[in-house]
Amino acid sequence: MNKPLILVVEDDPPIRNLLSVALESHGYRVITASDGEMAMMEAVSHNPDVMMLDLGLPDMDGRTVIQKTRSWTNMPIIVISARSDDSDKIEALDAGADDYLTKPFSVAELLARLRVTLRRLSQVSGENHEASVFVNGPLRVDYAAGYACFGEEELHLTPIEYKLLCVLSKNCGKVLTHKYITRQVWGSSWESNVASLRVFMTTLRKKLEKDGTVFIQTHVGIGYRMMKVSE
Ligand code: CA
Repeated sequence: MNKPLILVVEDDPPIRNLLSVALESHGYRVITASDGEMAMMEAVSHNPDVMMLDLGLPDMDGRTVIQKTRSWTNMPIIVISARSDDSDKIEALDAGADDYLTKPFSVAELLARLRVTLRRLSQVSGENHEASVFVNGPLRVDYAAGYACFGEEELHLTPIEYKLLCVLSKNCGKVLTHKYITRQVWGSSWESNVASLRVFMTTLRKKLEKDGTVFIQTHVGIGYRMMKVSE
């Protein structure tokens, strides 16, 4: 595989340089942009593998960059937010971002997030996107037949648990917000749905993670993500 190309969008020069140097020294190719307009030009002309996007840009809101980018590509977008306010991250994820990092973050954390994103990317492009069977370690979801197995054993899931598992597995590696999940499962995102989501997530996890393998990551105040587990 060629060295992945990362587009770093950040208006603060010291941070932009720090990110570039860190990524280049770990084998990535880097292009940079200092505002939203430039970010979209670079994205169109170089078609990078991943965009790392600061939410606070001088010319436009980072969310606008996400929406405009999503109108033509599914390129993974990792949002970088200085604000500790969860609502910014939630809005960015709902606009179509894949993951987020909160400043200040370590280089190790940055690289870890990037690896998760790239692994998801190679999985999506390596497989038939319309695949009717999802496999993640011992977990197997047969979308066409409408059931899930763990190893040789069929998982006994309620309809809601199964729907939840489908939403998570179809977006494996991606952080999904409470709002996104409840819309997919119930068609709405009332507070009561978010409360129910917590309950169903607990029961789903009990069935899924009984041997101790963690499939579902909790992002407190934000949502959930299914992780790719090793075979
Ligand atoms: Ca900024």
